[in-house]
Amino acid sequence: MNLYNIKHPEQQVNFAQAVRQGLGKDQGLFFPATIPQLSNIDELLALPLVERSQKILRALIGDEIPADKLNAMVKNAFTFPAPVVKVAENIYALELFHGPTLAFKDFGGRFMAQALATVRGDGKITILTATSGDTGAAVAHAFYGLENIDVVILYPKGKISPLQEKLFCTLGGNIRTVAINADFDACQTLVKQAFDDEELRQAIGLNSANSINISRLLAQVCYYFEAAAQLTAEQRQNLVVSVPSGNFGNLTAGLIAKTLGLPIKRFIASTNANDTVPRYLQTGEWQPNATVATLSNAMDVSRPNNWPRVEELFKRNGWNLSELGSGALNDAQTETALKAQYAQGYLCEPHGAIAYQVLKDQLQEGETGLFLCTAHPAKFKESVERILGIELPLPDALDKHNKLPLLSDEMDNDFATLRAYLLK
Ligand SMILES: *Cc1c(COP(=O)(O)O)cnc(C)c1O
Repeated sequence: MNLYNIKHPEQQVNFAQAVRQGLGKDQGLFFPATIPQLSNIDELLALPLVERSQKILRALIGDEIPADKLNAMVKNAFTFPAPVVKVAENIYALELFHGPTLAFKDFGGRFMAQALATVRGDGKITILTATSGDTGAAVAHAFYGLENIDVVILYPKGKISPLQEKLFCTLGGNIRTVAINADFDACQTLVKQAFDDEELRQAIGLNSANSINISRLLAQVCYYFEAAAQLTAEQRQNLVVSVPSGNFGNLTAGLIAKTLGLPIKRFIASTNANDTVPRYLQTGEWQPNATVATLSNAMDVSRPNNWPRVEELFKRNGWNLSELGSGALNDAQTETALKAQYAQGYLCEPHGAIAYQVLKDQLQEGETGLFLCTAHPAKFKESVERILGIELPLPDALDKHNKLPLLSDEMDNDFATLRAYLLK
């Protein structure tokens, strides 16, 4: 697989290099030089998730990774289902939250961990990351048990929810979690200091495994096929997909699926009040506002870092950005949407509620609508319980961790202490 840096097209790398480096020169994003057109879509859709995903990723990545290795990576990463559920007449939910941390980031995160373990080369690898909750859990679970990869996760002590803490600070093994006596920004600064320390970097093979890694997006392509596979051929004729968007990685993956030949009539980018993209699509002007906090906080992004990949795909495919639907909901509208879904008999959470409502408002006669549910309702337990006036039981995955003892170390906000800890 050949990839180029969108900012500096002369910088070209293969899949292994793109996975190891994450970002190109000048923070440029890597992008596949070619995306094949698959001719056997119907045959693919007839296969089970893992087998089909192995074929899709083989078509994208090529033979740079031996078939048996790639197949094992997919099998180890995709260990949970992605069911399609009917919500209203002609409207379906794709539930992406049945993984170990109950969010769709498990798909990309787990495949990235497998990819990194495969292309790492010799030497030690230490994944170091700071988290305010969700990312840490996804990273910890994705890398848990992988040989010769140490994971260290910093988080602000007392500033993440006890449930979140339990989810990733009870694993042990190759996962070390550190509660820092400071806020999240301080944790991020400590991580940055570590990456700036060339000697430390070399000594422990520091890697950020960050969210922009191309391996994540390639993995996410597979669940768009999984959704189509669960719909009828007739429903696939006029399929419209609404994607709750923050950094726009999810939408990029959907557009790659369409480029491969998956029949999707159009996409809708759904956002909260951080609506840089919907405004851009309407006015043609890119004018990010200051980021505001919302109920759908995983989408509180006003400068989405995958947007250049979206534009690159439109340009290369000769598509016009006017074909991309969009819509934004504020918190009050999100609450109304969540209630409407619940009245329909479907329990959702704020991110999925936005994708649902924007889809419902824009779906036309004869179309079938699909919206992505990116998190389990229990991940947003407090808001969902308050808005709907109900009590949510803890799902098994969370309950299991909730009963285990915390294994975190505690540390002051001091780089020298962290450095010694990492070298230990
Ligand atoms: C990360 C996240 C999103 C946004 O996905 P992007 O790929 O960044 O657009 C939406 N919902 C949830 C629950 C998330 O965690």
